Amino acid sequence: MTFTTHSNNQKPMNTLHRTLAAIGVVLLGTMLMAAGALAQSAWKQHDMNRPRPPVVTPPIQSLPVPAPADAVVLFDGSDLSQWQATDGTPTRWEVADGAMISVAGAGYIQTRQAFGDVQLHVEWAAPTPVEGTSQGRGNSGVFLMGLYEVQVLDSYDNETYADGQAAAIYGQYPPLANAARPPGQWQTYDIFFRRPRFSPSGGLLEPARLTVVHNGLVVQNNAELWGPTNWLQSLPYQPHPDKLPLAFQDHGNPVRYRNIWLRELPEHQPEPPADAYTEATVTISPEELEHFVGKYGIWEVRREQGRLQMNFYGPLFLDLIPHSPTRFSLKHTAGTVEFDVDANGDPQGLTFYLGGSTYPAKRME
Ligand code: MG
Repeated sequence: MTFTTHSNNQKPMNTLHRTLAAIGVVLLGTMLMAAGALAQSAWKQHDMNRPRPPVVTPPIQSLPVPAPADAVVLFDGSDLSQWQATDGTPTRWEVADGAMISVAGAGYIQTRQAFGDVQLHVEWAAPTPVEGTSQGRGNSGVFLMGLYEVQVLDSYDNETYADGQAAAIYGQYPPLANAARPPGQWQTYDIFFRRPRFSPSGGLLEPARLTVVHNGLVVQNNAELWGPTNWLQSLPYQPHPDKLPLAFQDHGNPVRYRNIWLRELPEHQPEPPADAYTEATVTISPEELEHFVGKYGIWEVRREQGRLQMNFYGPLFLDLIPHSPTRFSLKHTAGTVEFDVDANGDPQGLTFYLGGSTYPAKRME
């Protein structure tokens, strides 16, 4: 479902439109709040009858995956200086052989820094020798904002409920494929997270969204979460800050992590300045417009229902909006057409300006 659209290619809204849009957003938020939780799966959580995804042997990857230049490196194998326990005290997770290791009873580990929308890269390995079964085998978890879990589990030849296996959005969405590597081998998660949006009054405007790539396979494709992930309960959204720490789960198993980095993503595309497209238009008489009709290089200019039009490619004619007796703009595209006129006011050619390029054309007839 769509809650809002973010677009920078629409004409600027006037004040009335902005007000109506704002009211619409508030109403939508109120409706969602009134409706309670978002639509959920028809499956009860953790149902063993829920089909498990196909097992797909993942491709060989070149590891570790280097962090891009703008990444926040959260763990490079050396120390836990970016991390702490959830109560703010030093974590009891350990570092050995370039990996950070979950320690039973140490509790979750979380970043000192808080994050919102992110691209996150995590490498992890399930413990060997294999101990336990189902949810007791190599269990941990990547908690975006400390609330939304991408499950970490040793899912290599390990039966468990579909919405709790590796790369599940825990209790909500099974992965689309079981791309697990054997325990002990390094595996990758590349996680693309868009945080939920809340209105100032606390209504839900937009759910959290997750795309997850496990060992090179897309296993969550823009999944819309219906609330924080949870065991046994289905919790509704509660408004929370725009940024919260990333946390990893201590589930009692010595799961290892390494090469953890993320890129903070811009939350909005820039809007055009208020005066970007406010240039005044002029009125040109039908007789004057008729002067421009003709063929110019590969283009044709015609008059249609009182408006000047030009075919930019093929049979597509677009309106030309006049800003001076010789200069016109396009309605939806940042392009302009300037006619060259002689001393008698007769067009000799035109120049089309688009995307930093200039396209001159002589009049043919
Ligand atoms: Mg877990």
